[in-house]
Amino acid sequence: MATYTPMIQQYLKIKADYQDAFLFFRLGDFYEMFFEDATTASQELEITLTSRDGGGDDRIPMCGVPYHSAPTYIERLIEKGYKVAICEQVEDPKKAKGVVKREVIQVISPGTLMNEKGLQEKENNYICSVTHFPDDTFGLALSDLSTGENSVTLISSFHDVVSEIYAKEAKEIVVSSSFSAELLQTVKERMTITISFEESTKVEDAFLHLTESLQQQKLVDTFARILQYLVRTQKRSLEHLQPVQLYQINEYMKIDLFSKRNLELTETIRSKGKKGSLLWLLDQTVTAMGGRLLKNWIDRPLLSKEKIDERLNMVDVLMKQFFEREELRDLLKEVYDLERLAGRVAFGNVNARDLVQLRKSLQKVPEIQEVVYRLNNPYASKLVEDIDPCERLTALLERGLKEHPPLSIKEGDIIADNYNHQLDQYRDASRNGKTWIASLEQKERERTGIRSLKIGYNRVFGYYIEVTRANLHLLPEGMYERKQTLTNAERFITPELKEKEALILEAEEKIVELEYELFAQIREEVKVYIPRLQALAKKVSELDVLQCFAKVSEERHYTKPTFSTNGDIHIKNGRHPVVEKVMNAQEYVPNDCQMTDDSSILLITGPNMSGKSTYMRQVALTAILGQIGCFVPAEEAELPIFDQVFTRIGAADDLISGQSTFMVEMLETKNAVTNATQSSLILLDEIGRGTSTYDGMALAQAIIEYVHEHIGCKTLFSTHYHELTVLDQQLSALRNVHVSAIEKNNKVVFLHKIKEGPADKSYGIHVAELAELPEPLLQRARVILADFENASEEQKVKPTADAVAEPEPEPEPQPIEQPKAETKTDTEQSQLSFFGEEKEQQVKEASLSKREKQIIAELKQLDLLEMTPLDAMNAMYKLQKLLKKK
Ligand code: ADP
Ligand code: MG
Repeated sequence: MATYTPMIQQYLKIKADYQDAFLFFRLGDFYEMFFEDATTASQELEITLTSRDGGGDDRIPMCGVPYHSAPTYIERLIEKGYKVAICEQVEDPKKAKGVVKREVIQVISPGTLMNEKGLQEKENNYICSVTHFPDDTFGLALSDLSTGENSVTLISSFHDVVSEIYAKEAKEIVVSSSFSAELLQTVKERMTITISFEESTKVEDAFLHLTESLQQQKLVDTFARILQYLVRTQKRSLEHLQPVQLYQINEYMKIDLFSKRNLELTETIRSKGKKGSLLWLLDQTVTAMGGRLLKNWIDRPLLSKEKIDERLNMVDVLMKQFFEREELRDLLKEVYDLERLAGRVAFGNVNARDLVQLRKSLQKVPEIQEVVYRLNNPYASKLVEDIDPCERLTALLERGLKEHPPLSIKEGDIIADNYNHQLDQYRDASRNGKTWIASLEQKERERTGIRSLKIGYNRVFGYYIEVTRANLHLLPEGMYERKQTLTNAERFITPELKEKEALILEAEEKIVELEYELFAQIREEVKVYIPRLQALAKKVSELDVLQCFAKVSEERHYTKPTFSTNGDIHIKNGRHPVVEKVMNAQEYVPNDCQMTDDSSILLITGPNMSGKSTYMRQVALTAILGQIGCFVPAEEAELPIFDQVFTRIGAADDLISGQSTFMVEMLETKNAVTNATQSSLILLDEIGRGTSTYDGMALAQAIIEYVHEHIGCKTLFSTHYHELTVLDQQLSALRNVHVSAIEKNNKVVFLHKIKEGPADKSYGIHVAELAELPEPLLQRARVILADFENASEEQKVKPTADAVAEPEPEPEPQPIEQPKAETKTDTEQSQLSFFGEEKEQQVKEASLSKREKQIIAELKQLDLLEMTPLDAMNAMYKLQKLLKKK
C-alpha cells in the first residue's frame, strides 16, 4: 500500500484532534479541506469538489476557499451549527525544511463567534455549559465571548436548566463526555444547539480572579468547564472575560420555556421572528448594549418590589421630563457597542475606526452624566454618580488618532500629527519632498518653455517628468534621462528627482511602520481599560433601557402599576400591548380584570375569535411588564408580584411545528400544575382541546378542580366547553366571565368585551358564516350539529349509569355532565340546550330507529302501579332484549 505524502500525513495528524470541526488547512492563498470534510463542505457551501493525489491508492477529495473570502464561508458553516478549525502555516515557507509547520490557531463555533457580521447587534451570543452533579443538581454557566459576560447558577431540575438555555438562546452547550445522552437529547429536541465536549474543570492561574467570588466548588467547576473550552479553542488572550456573576433563578420571575414561547415575549410562535413580540413592541433602545439588556430584562422580571419601584420611578421621571429624555436619547445614539469593542480589543481585532468610535462614545459620557443629574431623581443620580468617563483614555484617543482613519491598520493615515515626534519628522520629510517635486514642475516648465510638462507618479517607475510627443523637439537632447515611451508622450527622470523620491518613499515606508506600531501601543493601552469600559457599558445600557421604557410608556399611554401584597389583581381598562399596537388604537376594546381570593379562577367562555386568548395574555403581559419595571397598558393597575407565570395552550391552538401533540399539551400542563405556587399566575387556554370532547372536558374539569383545591393561585382558564361553567356552583373561588358577542341579523358580532357570567352559546357556525363558507355547507353543518347535540345527550347517560353500578372508592366531585336524562330538571336542560325544547324533541325523535320508538311507546304504556315486581322485571327483560337485538 502506498503511503500518504508528508503533507497529507500532517493533515491527518492535525485532523485527528479536531474530529468535530471542519479543518481549514492553509495551503498558500487557500484554505483546503480534504476527505469527508471536503465532500460535506462542498455540499454545504456549494463549492466545487476536486481531488488530488496524496500518495495513497485513491485520489483524495478536496475543496478549498480563498484565504481572503474565508470569513464568509466560515460564517455560513457556523450558521448551520458546524465548527471550523483554522489551521495556519506557522513558519515561513521559505525557511521550512520539509513540510511547512502548521497549527490550529483557533476553533470557531456557533457559541464562540467574534466576527461582527455573524453576530446580531442587539442579541447576546451565549455558549453554556451544564454539569450534572452526583446529588442530582445541575450547574449551569453562561458566557458571551463577544462581550465577556459570565454567569453561573445551580438548578435542581433539568427542566429549569432547559428553560434557562432556551431563554438565553444559547448557541452551543459544553458538557463532559459522561453527561447523560438522554438529557442532551431533551435539549436538542427543544432548540437548535451545537454540542461540544470538555473534560477539564481546572481554572488556570491567569483566570483565578474570575472565580474569586464563587463560594461553592460546584459553581467553580461548572464555570471552569466553559472557560477551559474557550481557552482550548480560542488559543488567545481572553482578557476581556468578566468575573463570573452568581445568580439564582428564583431571584426572578420564572417563566418557563413553554410560557415564554406562548406569550411571545421575544419572538412570535408562527414566524419565530422578533416582529410581533413583546420585545419588538418595547424596543426603543438606541444602543446595541441597551438592546441586549432589554432582552435580558424581559427574560427576567424582578421579584423585589423595591427594585421594581426603582425602575418604575426612573421611568416616571423620564416620562415627565421629555426634553431631558430626548437629549439623553440623542447622546446615547452616539455610544458605540463598548462591550463588544472590549472583546475585540482583547482578541486583537480592532481597527482605528473602532477606536475613533470609542473616542466619540467616551466624549459623550460627561454630557450623559450631566443630563441625568438634571433629572433630579435619586436613583438616576446614583446610577451615574460613579460613572467612569475614562478621561485619560479619551485624551489619548483624541491626541493619538486622526479624524477619519481608514479600515486597514497597515497603510498608515491613522495617527494624528503632533502625537509622536519621530512620526512628525518622517511626515515632514515626505511632505517636503512632495512640495519640492511640486515646485519642480513649475521650475522645469519655465526652464523648457513647455507649458504642458508635468510630473507624475506610478508604482513601477516612481516619479517622472512627462513631455508630450508634440513638445519633444523643445527639449534639449540629454537634458533628462529617458525612462518610458508612450504613444503620445515620453517620460523622463533626473538624478535629483530620484534622490527626492527615495527620501519620500523611505519616509512613507517608515511612516506606515511607525503608525502601525503606535496604533498597536494605543490598542494595548485600551486593553488596560477593558474592565472600566465594561462597567461603563453596563450603566449606559441600563439608562438606555429605562429611557426606552419611558418612551414606549408615553407613546402608548401606559400607566405606572402599583403592587399589593394581598394577591389581588385590579386592572382597569387593560389592553394587550401588541395586539393593540398592530390594530388601530381606537379599535381595541379595553377590558377590566378583577381577581381576588374569592374569585381567583376566571373561567372564560365565549365564541371562537371573540378575544379569550387575547384577554388572558394581556393580563400576563401586564404582570410581566410591571415586573420588568415598565409602565403597563391600562388606565389603572394594581397587581401582586407573581413568582411564576405559566401559559399553556390547547394542542389545537399550538402551532409549533411537529409538536402539536396532545402529549406535549399534557406535559406542559403537568409542569404548570406541579410547579405553580399560590403566588403564581396560570393561564390555561383551551386545555383539553387536543383530545376527544369528553376526554378533554373531563381533564379540563379535573385540572380546574386541582388548581382550586391544591394551588389556589390566580388562574385564567378559557374554554369552549360551556358545560364547565356550572363548576361555579361547587368551586367557591371560580367565577364565570365571557367575552360577549351579539347576534345581528343571524350573524355574530364580536364585542371583545369581557362580561360577568358564562357565555350562552357556541358560535362556531356563525363564525363560519362570517367567513362566508358556501351556504349549502353551512346548512349541512347546522343539521349535523343538531344530530351531535342529540347524540351527546344520549351518550351522556351511559358513563354515569355505569359508574353507579360500581361502588366508587371516594366520593367524586359532582360531575358536570348531566345526570340521567330522566332526572334532568327543566333548568338544567335549558342550560345545556342550544335550541328550543320543542325543536330538540323533534330532532331527537327523528334520529330514533323505528324499533326504538316502539320500545319507548311500550314503556310509556306500562302501568307500573298495577304490576308485581316480577311482572315489571319480565317486562323490562323483554324490552331490553328487543333493544339489544341487532
Ligand atoms: P379567541 O381566543 O376567543 O378565539 P382571540 O383572543 O384569538 O380569540 O382573538 C381573536 C382576534 O380578535 C384577535 O386576533 C384580535 O384581532 C381580536 N381581538 C381580541 N381581543 C380584542 C379586543 N379586546 N379588542 C379588539 N379586538 C380584539
Ligand atoms: Mg383562543
